[in-house]
Amino acid sequence: QKIDRYVVIGNPIAHSKSPEIHAQFAAQTGQRIDYQRLLAPLDGFAATVQAFIEAGGKGANVTVPFKLDAFALATRLTDRAQAAGAVNTLRFDGAAIIGDNTDGVGLVADLVRNASCPIAGKRVLLLGAGGAARGVLLPLLQQQPSDIVIANRTPLKAQQLAQQFAGHGVVKACAFDALAGRFDIVINATAASLQAQLPPIRADIFGAGALGYDMMYGQTATVFMEFATRHGAVARDGLGMLVEQAAEAFLFWRGVRPDTAPVFTALRRALAAPL
Ligand code: NDP
Repeated sequence: QKIDRYVVIGNPIAHSKSPEIHAQFAAQTGQRIDYQRLLAPLDGFAATVQAFIEAGGKGANVTVPFKLDAFALATRLTDRAQAAGAVNTLRFDGAAIIGDNTDGVGLVADLVRNASCPIAGKRVLLLGAGGAARGVLLPLLQQQPSDIVIANRTPLKAQQLAQQFAGHGVVKACAFDALAGRFDIVINATAASLQAQLPPIRADIFGAGALGYDMMYGQTATVFMEFATRHGAVARDGLGMLVEQAAEAFLFWRGVRPDTAPVFTALRRALAAPL
């Protein structure tokens, strides 16, 4: 049996955990695949993909900073990739390059299955209006929350997102300093945690039993997670989203959805180990 080849393409790429995740998925499901990291030059994403296709590649995950290039390169898009305006998964099918975005369904799976936090009927606050926020809006709205409020440092970007997704549910934009009311789920999709900063949110945005979800993950809790815990919420990082988006990509390529629980546990253990 021929081994099908996949890669994760980014710049930088050495830090990516995707090869370990997909190797575990393949072992678990008995799929024979080879999955490697592929560094593309900043101005050479399309050429890198074409060369990989010519070498027989079957698919690719795409990470920073190429999700918009992947969107532009795709010859066909899934609805959720179209809505996200960005692509994190490519499948090469003859002459077709099919683009998908599994970040949003990955987040939803992590919330609903792993955190036992259904979204239907809930008030959701989405912090940030960058690529990550935009990527998760359609799958979140498809879960039928009562409403989603988007708050962003640059308010215009939040307004544009709210307008774009208005046809899919109740979605509003709000400046940080005008935020009022309590939310059941607060999702930090800003890049603030990367600089150990907290978006300017008030402590009383967390409703009783709220979930504070940071898309970032690492060895320790982020400042946002600490803030959420201090103010009565349950905090969770984005490691589950990472594993779930990978499982959705694996499904998109191979037609089987792996069991994410053992892979998540192994990754968490590896992350917690001293550096
Ligand atoms: P972008 O650069 O597209 O957007 C960054 C967003 O963060 C913008 O809304 C920006 O606001 C806001 N921001 C940046 N710094 C601050 C700050 N100091 N205070 C308040 N707001 C700030 O990044 P992405 O959307 O691609 O990524 C955001 C985060 O999501 C990253 O931490 C990334 O690691 C994480 N992520 C995790 C995934 C997972 O699988 N767990 C998947 C994808 C992303 P403004 O518009 O005003 O500039």
